[in-house]
Amino acid sequence: MNDSFDPAWSVDTLGIRAAELRSQWGEHSPGIFATSSFCFDSAEQAQATFAEQRGGYIYSRFTNPTVAAFEQRLAAMEGGDACVATASGMAAILSLSLTLLKQGDHVIASRTLFGSTISLFNNYVAKFGVRFSYVDPCDLDAWREQMGPDTKMLFVETPTNPLGEIVDLRGLADIAHRGEALLVVDNCFLTPALQRPLSLGADLVMHSATKYLDGQGRCVGGAIVGDAQRVGKQLFGFMRTCGPCMSPFNAWVFLKGLETLNLRMRAHGDGAQRIAEWLAQHPAVAQVHYAGLASHPQHELAKAQQSGFGGIVSFELHGGQAAAFRMINATRLLSITANLGDTRSTVTHPATTTHLRIGPELRERAGIRDGLVRLSIGLEGVDDLIADLEQALV
Ligand SMILES: *Cc1c(COP(=O)(O)O)cnc(C)c1O
Repeated sequence: MNDSFDPAWSVDTLGIRAAELRSQWGEHSPGIFATSSFCFDSAEQAQATFAEQRGGYIYSRFTNPTVAAFEQRLAAMEGGDACVATASGMAAILSLSLTLLKQGDHVIASRTLFGSTISLFNNYVAKFGVRFSYVDPCDLDAWREQMGPDTKMLFVETPTNPLGEIVDLRGLADIAHRGEALLVVDNCFLTPALQRPLSLGADLVMHSATKYLDGQGRCVGGAIVGDAQRVGKQLFGFMRTCGPCMSPFNAWVFLKGLETLNLRMRAHGDGAQRIAEWLAQHPAVAQVHYAGLASHPQHELAKAQQSGFGGIVSFELHGGQAAAFRMINATRLLSITANLGDTRSTVTHPATTTHLRIGPELRERAGIRDGLVRLSIGLEGVDDLIADLEQALV
C-alpha cells in the first residue's frame, strides 16, 4: 500500500491517489483480495503476527488489504486518523453504539434521523440501559437543555432526511464538548466531497457507503472515521471480535467509487439545483426543501459549512398523499426505490416507506407530511428529468 500521500491534497486527489494498493505484480487498478485468511512463512512468524510484534494480515474479519485501502482512503478524505469499514451503514451505527456507550449513558439525537437509526436506538440499544432524547436538530438550545452528566453522545445528520434542514455543526460540537459528549455526524448525504464534519469539530463521522460512496447502487456497506484511539483501537477491537465487517469485494467497489466521488457529487448537485428551482415555480408544488435555494432558511449556514448542496431534493404537493402517489406512478425516468445516491434518479414517498415505522406522531413532529416526495437526483440529463417531472405533475 502506498502510504506516502499528502493529507493536504484536495479531496479530488485524495479520492484517487490516497492509499493506492499495489501488489508485486504492479497492477494499476487495485486488486480484490478475496481470501479469508493469510499465510505465514513459519510458526515463529505466525506467533509474532498474532502478538502484534510485526504487522501483517491474519484473517479477513480483522483486516484485509482491499478493505484497508478503502478505510485509509476514506479516512484521508474525511481528514481523520483512522477508519473501520462495516457491513452496512446500520452496522456502523450499531458498532459505534456498542463500543462507545454503556448502561446508564444518555444520548441526544436529532428527531429527523434516518428511520432505521431511530428504530435501532429505541428497539435495540435502549434495551441495554442507554437513554435516548430526541430534539429539533436546528434548535441548539434544545440540545443544550438536554445535556446532563450522563450525556455521552450527540448524534446528527445534516442535511436532514428528507427535509434538507441544515444543522450548525460548529455550534453543536461546542455544546458536546462543554460536557463529556462526543459529536457523531452521519455524513451520508454530502460525503467528504461536500462536507468534512471533523474539520468543523465533530469527533466521529459515519457513512452508509451504500449511497454516494458506491454511487451506482451495487453494494451495501458502511464506515466510521475518527481518531486513532476511538476508531483505530476501540472500534477496530469491536469489529475484530464481533465481526460486522465489510467484504473485500464490496470494499473494492467502494474504493473505485471514491475515485469519482468528487466529480459525481458536483454533478448531482448541479442537477438538484436546477430541478429545485424548476419545482419552486410549479403551481402544484407547495414547498421545496433544498438548501441551494436562496429562499431556504439556512442557505447561508449551508454555504458556510458545505462546499455544495448535494443531490437530494424534497417537495410537498398541495394534494397530499393522493397527489404524491399519482405523481410517483406517472414518472417514467425515476425509479421507485429506497436507495439514493445512485446514477439513476430515485423517488420515494417518505411517510409510507422510509418513515413508516416511526409512527404518525413522530412523523408529524418531524414535519414529514403526506404530500411530501423525496427525489435523489441521479446523473441522467437534467432536461430529460425536468420533462419527466413536468408530464408527471399535471
Ligand atoms: C441508508 C442510510 C443509513 C443506513 O445505511 P445502510 O447502508 O442502508 O445500512 C444511515 N443513514 C443514512 C442517512 C442513510 O441514508
